[in-house]
Amino acid sequence: MNVDAKFFKKLDSALRKRFGVPPEHHCGDPTGALVRGILSQNTNDRNRDRAFESLTRKFRDWNDVLHASDEEIAAVIRTAGMSGQRTERIKNLLQWLKQHSGKEIDAQFLLDMDYKRALEQLTSLPGIGVKTAAVFLLFCGDAPLFPVDTHIKRIMIRMKIFPPKTSAERMIFALSEIVPHEIHNSLHLNLLELGRNYCTARKTMCETCPVKNICPANRKE
Ligand code: SF4
Repeated sequence: MNVDAKFFKKLDSALRKRFGVPPEHHCGDPTGALVRGILSQNTNDRNRDRAFESLTRKFRDWNDVLHASDEEIAAVIRTAGMSGQRTERIKNLLQWLKQHSGKEIDAQFLLDMDYKRALEQLTSLPGIGVKTAAVFLLFCGDAPLFPVDTHIKRIMIRMKIFPPKTSAERMIFALSEIVPHEIHNSLHLNLLELGRNYCTARKTMCETCPVKNICPANRKE
C-alpha cells in the first residue's frame, strides 16, 4: 500500500467536513445484527431493512424463526431477494448460535471473546464472509476491523491505493492494520457517503469531490 495512517486521518477529516461526524452506532440485539448482515448481502439498504422489519414483526423471537418452516421465512424476507438461500443461511446461523450460546439464541458471546477468534468462527459458517463478520464485530463490538463493501472497494481502487483486482477481503485485512482504530467507524460510514454521492459506480465527480485535494487519482503530476 502506497499510503499510511496519516493519509487516512486526512481523508477522514476531509470527509467529516463534508458529511459530518456519523452518529454513534447502537448495535441493539447482536443476533439481529448478524441476521441483518445476511439480509444485506447483494441488496440495497432499503430492501434489507424492509425484509428485517417483516421478519421481526412476524416472529416473536429468534427461536420462533428457527422453528418456522422455510416457506414462512422466505415469504417474509422476499423483498431482499434470494429468499431461499437467505432462509437457509439464517436458520443455519440460528442453529449454530443455539448450540453455542446456551439457553437463549444470543450472539453476544461472540462479542465477549477475542475478535480474531470470533472472526474465525463466524467466517466458518456458510454465507458469512469476512465483510459481514467485520461489520458485525466493528459496529457491535468495536473490533479493530475495517469492513470494505463495493463502494469502498471501488474508491480504494480509483484512489490507486490497491491494484484493480484486489479482493475486498484482502483490503479488509490490509486496511484494518493501517487505518487508525479510532476512525474506523467514521471513515467507513463517510466513505459510503462518498461512494453514493461523488465517486459513484457510474461516474466520478472529481471537480466537486470533498477529497479532491487528497485523492491520489486526482493529483496533477
Ligand atoms: S477525487 Fe474523483 S476519483 Fe477521487 S474520490 Fe473523488 S470522485 Fe473519486
